[in-house]
Amino acid sequence: MAIEFSLTPDQEAFRDATRAFLQKEVAPVVAEMDEKEEFPAASVKRMQEEGYFGVPIPEEWGGLGLGKVGYCIFLEELGKIDASHGVIVGAHTSLGTSPLLYYGTEEQKRRWLIPAAKGEKLLAFSLTEPGSGSDSGAVHTVAEHRGDAWVLTGNKIYVSNGREASAVVVMAGNDVKLGPNGGVTAFIVDTNRPGFSVGRCEKKMGLHGTSTAELVLDHVELGPEHVIGEVGKGFHVAMTALDVGRVSLGAASLGGIEAATTAALDFSKNRTQFGLPISEYQAIQFKIADMGMRAQALRYLVYHAAAHQDQLGTDPKAWTRLQRAEKTREAAIVKCLASEWASEVIDEALQIHGGIGYIRGTPIERAYRDARISEIFEGTNEIQRLVISRDLIARGL
Ligand SMILES: Cc1cc2nc3c(=O)[nH]c(=O)nc-3n(C[C@H](O)[C@H](O)[C@H](O)COP(=O)(O)OP(=O)(O)OC[C@H]3O[C@@H](n4cnc5c(N)ncnc54)[C@H](O)[C@@H]3O)c2cc1C
Repeated sequence: MAIEFSLTPDQEAFRDATRAFLQKEVAPVVAEMDEKEEFPAASVKRMQEEGYFGVPIPEEWGGLGLGKVGYCIFLEELGKIDASHGVIVGAHTSLGTSPLLYYGTEEQKRRWLIPAAKGEKLLAFSLTEPGSGSDSGAVHTVAEHRGDAWVLTGNKIYVSNGREASAVVVMAGNDVKLGPNGGVTAFIVDTNRPGFSVGRCEKKMGLHGTSTAELVLDHVELGPEHVIGEVGKGFHVAMTALDVGRVSLGAASLGGIEAATTAALDFSKNRTQFGLPISEYQAIQFKIADMGMRAQALRYLVYHAAAHQDQLGTDPKAWTRLQRAEKTREAAIVKCLASEWASEVIDEALQIHGGIGYIRGTPIERAYRDARISEIFEGTNEIQRLVISRDLIARGL
């Protein structure tokens, strides 16, 4: 089987333009954003104006039409600079727009997807609840059907972009007894709806530019046009979005690995101890070799998975059971390896920096704090291993 991994000239040009844009518009604000723990509104607005919040969305729906490969190119570049910006984009594009792109009606696409892809509206995705994390099918937020309308009541937590979003994809239980198979429905909820409010915003170890918000739904009334996909099939909607999110998280982690490796290389060539640059010592060289191996292996994994998602397209009804299973296993493998390798590589890069790596405000110190969450959100790595092993047991390698 011949596999072509090179980027097209257009993709190369997009990468170069993106890199230059991010250096100019995002890199300068990151240290202050992290220190002040503020949402980077100005740089987010600039990214929205340039279309970066709709990279994989087809042009007919307001996006740049660059598919998942283009999206991963963007997130890899963004991941080199800052994880907070990457999470703001990922929560919006992977998790917020995918439900609308894959399952939305024409009307929903016109009303929510186009402004989201153009960067006029910021989206969020809300699955987690105080009692429902890894067991994501066990939602307690209730969606009560009253005539034609739905009334949503419950508390959601840990919603990235939850404080700033103008609409949120919310998973709620249409019949809690049925659990994930038939009992959970996806809704798109405008945040100015009566009964919707933002509660507590968490203080975090890292990702200081992102909000991680509690959402309170107190009898929020919605019409049938707010249901995404079929009633009771919200779990499919969520899992499709998470498959996109897990691959894009891999791309952002790849960027983090590349930035940490480059920083460690530069530092090791310039830091002299015992009369030699520390890059001359084998203990350092072996660390650098391990970093390079992970970067190279992950690049193949990420872009293979992204190209695969592009090939499958965005109509879930057209996918066979096997195609779904392959896509989900692949996304889980990318997410799990990428997040663990990013933590390891950034940890070793910090070690190579010695004491200065531990000093508050250095890029490697920020990257260390930011990286850890990727082993937890979008499904913990224990859950990824469950997904991978169940599929291996069912289908073999
Ligand atoms: C910064 C941040 C941003 C987030 N953004 C969002 C967001 O935008 N939208 C959203 O919906 N959620 C979001 N989350 C929530 C995140 O996805 C959950 O925290 C995560 O899925 C884990 O759920 P939990 O915290 O309830 O942990 P739990 O599910 O309680 O897990 C606790 C531990 O038990 C392990 N465990 C659980 N079940 C099993 C099992 N069957 N086998 C083996 N081990 C198991 C877990 O792996 C973990 O180690 C965010 C969280 C954070 C911290």
